[in-house]
Amino acid sequence: MKELVLPLPDEAATVALGTTLAKACNRASVIYLYGDLGAGKTTFSRGFLQALGHQGNVKSPTYTLVEPYALQPLAVYHFDLYRLADPEELEFMGIRDYFAQDAICLVEWPQQGTGVLPEPDLALHLSYQGEEREAKIEAISAYGSQLLDRIHGSQG
Ligand code: ADP
Ligand code: MG
Repeated sequence: MKELVLPLPDEAATVALGTTLAKACNRASVIYLYGDLGAGKTTFSRGFLQALGHQGNVKSPTYTLVEPYALQPLAVYHFDLYRLADPEELEFMGIRDYFAQDAICLVEWPQQGTGVLPEPDLALHLSYQGEEREAKIEAISAYGSQLLDRIHGSQG
């Protein structure tokens, strides 16, 4: 499957999508999170992280660019590149080391890292639908396509 569009009527639905995707990921994965400010990228990430055992709040790492979470079965790195001035900054912070690990990388504002970030497995596009949101999940890699099949199955 290449693309899946899901309505997200409320915050709980955005969290639930994060949970579903976290449970589907069984190996190192890269997920790009697109959407305007307030579209729900961090809300999705909270559902994802909490499904893997993280307790407590999740803040966008706007100033630090990345927040590491030592979770099982895989570590998760949550990036927020909103304030990145130049993709080259990513080289200085050793971006390749993060992506070379057996880990899951969630990346908010990936367009800020064009040319330096590796290609994702999935691109999640969150958009406003009035007060609600819509998710378009796009498979980029073959593994991403498998993930979409799994999510599709688990959404019924
Ligand atoms: P971003 O990281 O994309 O800037 P956040 O996740 O920080 O966005 O904020 C999203 C805001 O929208 C939160 O206030 C959250 O409660 C709300 N929200 C998240 N998902 C939905 C949804 N599906 N419908 C309505 N409101 C939502
Ligand atoms: Mg955010």
